[in-house]
Amino acid sequence: MIRRLSVLFLVWLYGSVGFCSSFVDIESFSKRYHLKMVQRANTDEVYLKNEKHTLLLSAKTKEAFVDNTKVFLTYPININTTTHRKHKAATIFARKHYTIAQVDIDKIVLPILFPNKTLSRPVKTIVIDPGHGGKAEGTQNKQLRIKEKDLTLKTAKLLAEKLKRLGYVVYLTRNQDVDLTLEQRSLFANQKKADIFLSLHYNSAPSAQAQGIETFAYSFHRHPSTDGNCKHDKHVSVHKFDGANTCLAWQIQRKLCTELHVNDRGVRRGRMAVLADLNCPGVLIECGFLSHKTEASRIKTESYQKSLVNAIANAIQCFKNS
Ligand SMILES: [Zn+2]
Repeated sequence: MIRRLSVLFLVWLYGSVGFCSSFVDIESFSKRYHLKMVQRANTDEVYLKNEKHTLLLSAKTKEAFVDNTKVFLTYPININTTTHRKHKAATIFARKHYTIAQVDIDKIVLPILFPNKTLSRPVKTIVIDPGHGGKAEGTQNKQLRIKEKDLTLKTAKLLAEKLKRLGYVVYLTRNQDVDLTLEQRSLFANQKKADIFLSLHYNSAPSAQAQGIETFAYSFHRHPSTDGNCKHDKHVSVHKFDGANTCLAWQIQRKLCTELHVNDRGVRRGRMAVLADLNCPGVLIECGFLSHKTEASRIKTESYQKSLVNAIANAIQCFKNS
């Protein structure tokens, strides 16, 4: 009874603050979209497959994997087990039913599995935003004398060269060590009529163990961010790119993790002001941890920087052709 009351209270709580989603039966969904559904033996995990992609969903968690790249769902996968007995048979059969939030179907699963329905225009102009600058130094590694604002500018310049060689028109929000507000950066992208916006950052954490790469897209309207932030936001124009943002973030995260062999911290969503007012798909990439001793030493090297920009460029080519 107490459990039922607490569930009712949670439903009421979600409803009252406006953050909730309906849930969809995964088996019915997979039939509707002609996906092959395979339950992994002795686990609470299911695979959904089409000709191109494999999606792995696990009960009671938001962590999903598309072609082995981690993508955080907005809500955990639900599982219910029903038991039944075949006519007059002594054995009782257990059957597992999985459900997934409708918002995750609409804005994550379908855009990645069926990307041709997501992109509405060709990709030609790319705006790269080297995070921080001027007085905003970002994070730093004092021992290695690396400041985030310097390294993002270096990476951005390398990436611009690479993308220009591939035929894209590329602009940087800053070419020097200057101050820029977050709003100025997205406004610049809109003025240049960008087709893609990439904000480059390096990460830090209180734990010296944290390492790897994560790619952020803007949170879905009226749904929590990956860190649980449920703040209502006034930005609504960004949401017409929710699906495209997911695809772009996933392609980038996938290429970075497979080509750089780094820890996959997943595609996440956050309410980043620099992404909020964009008129095009945009993501924020945390390209590695300056607070991790080994990773920071590696990040500094020419070979890491070269692999990093190659992976991002390859991801953009995939996104463009998807
Ligand atoms: Zn940063």
